[in-house]
Amino acid sequence: MLNFPTKTINYIKNNLLRQQKEVEKNLKEVSEDDPAKPQILAETSEPGTDAYIADSHIKTIVLEKQLKKANNSIKTALQRIKQGTYGKCDRCGHNIEIGRLLIMPMTSLCVSCSKKTSKRL
Ligand SMILES: [Zn+2]
Repeated sequence: MLNFPTKTINYIKNNLLRQQKEVEKNLKEVSEDDPAKPQILAETSEPGTDAYIADSHIKTIVLEKQLKKANNSIKTALQRIKQGTYGKCDRCGHNIEIGRLLIMPMTSLCVSCSKKTSKRL
């Protein structure tokens, strides 16, 4: 069972939905902005340009990966809210600090566990 007040969980839920919208929008933009699309690549012949394109292509891939990851985390969090398991730490099973959830609603680790695994995304 959720031990959050309805108001709090609704706030978090809205936050998640808003972030999900944003992530999905960014994902769309990222794939449209990718300079390494075949037709664009074929048109560039200047030396040095390929490297630039490759570089920003990698950035696009990294960004896309991060966005997809964020999207997954948001989906998982929303699912957990529905199932009533939201707010439990994935690692130790303790309740995640409410302040942390308000700032990072898609987190699935409590503060101490995330410190232990602070490898970043
Ligand atoms: Zn934990």
